[in-house]
Amino acid sequence: MKLAMIGFGQAGGKIVDKFVEYDKRHDAGIVKAAVAVNTAKADLMGLTHIPEEKRVLIGQSRVKGHGVGADNELGAEIAEEDVDEVQGAIDSVPVHEVDAFLIVSGLGGGTGSGSAPVLAKHLKRIYTEPVYGLGVLPGSDEGGIYTLNAARSFQTFVREVDNLLVFDNDAWRKTGESVQGGYDEINEEIVKRFGILFGAGEVTGGEVAESFVDSSEIINTLAGGGVSTVGYAREEVEEVQNSGGLLSRLTGSKNEDDGLDTARTTNRITSLVRKAALGRLTLPCEIDGTERALLVMAGPPAYLNRKGIERSRKWLEEQTGSMEVRGGDYPVTGSGFVASVILLSGVTNVPRIKELQQVAIEAQENIDEINQESETNLDNLVHDDEDELESLF
Ligand code: GDP
Repeated sequence: MKLAMIGFGQAGGKIVDKFVEYDKRHDAGIVKAAVAVNTAKADLMGLTHIPEEKRVLIGQSRVKGHGVGADNELGAEIAEEDVDEVQGAIDSVPVHEVDAFLIVSGLGGGTGSGSAPVLAKHLKRIYTEPVYGLGVLPGSDEGGIYTLNAARSFQTFVREVDNLLVFDNDAWRKTGESVQGGYDEINEEIVKRFGILFGAGEVTGGEVAESFVDSSEIINTLAGGGVSTVGYAREEVEEVQNSGGLLSRLTGSKNEDDGLDTARTTNRITSLVRKAALGRLTLPCEIDGTERALLVMAGPPAYLNRKGIERSRKWLEEQTGSMEVRGGDYPVTGSGFVASVILLSGVTNVPRIKELQQVAIEAQENIDEINQESETNLDNLVHDDEDELESLF
């Protein structure tokens, strides 16, 4: 599936930068265009793979390239004012060759949190292609303002996109690691999961698969809107020549005729699908009640079979209670892994979101209280007790 990716803010820019690198490294063919947008010049300069002419600095007249801090209302205002500058970078994208837009952003900060929903609204007005969001939730240790920003941005972003894919930093943070080192690892995880998912609809070359995942299947799974999460599991395998090729016959390998033992292949697939669905999701949630799902099995063609995918699809139907579970292969030779990626679209039972909203409401109340208090305190300081002094004018 070919995407035009727009990364907002520091997190968004870094993640899209990594997607570009992933795309080149794996020749995945998913990033048709990549744009980074920020109010902070330094963050744009820190990117490596997104070309300089695709890095857009917005809000120069307001914040002089220094960013908006964690003020996402200012971030949203600036994005509205400077949306033409972002559009300018998108204008050079051959949109007719793109299957969808993907707007990537951390939701806890200022620029991305405020701007991403603004651009989603703008793109949806102009283009017929779907507009998806990839939103990153902050860690719960980041503090009240980040949680409040995220809760407000989440609500708005879901409303403006055709589907919001969510990654929760909180579920993935590791203790004892530097924040930067932690983010690098987390960003790898994000790009790997979404890279396989979107890459599935973009198979190039002469690979033979029993049932390809077409990009329309990804689009149909995401259609209907709401919030999505992604599961992943993989197992190392020994790469073999497909279908008992010359090499395996010459070396007397057991992998004759049909390549590999069918039962083992099927079992490996079903167990990987269970691990992916029941393991750590990008946004942890209850999978029961998911509206639509897509299962992608990636790996060397000899390790993929229709039976395994069919069984896993049925199992996913039972677990989610959904009647709309799609599945297929993504043949990748030379990876040394069989991997299962599961897209759960339209999830509704997400305790983490409810908790985020609760903390956000408390933070909002605290902020209001502190603001009121400081107003009173300043008033008390500036004015004399009996109000005997008068201001100059
Ligand atoms: P902005 O530049 O004002 O949009 O804010 P940032 O992108 O710097 O931060 C917003 C939120 O994104 C933070 O609260 C973090 O939760 C998260 N974040 C920042 N950098 C990264 C990153 O590299 N990877 C991930 N996964 N999250 C990040």
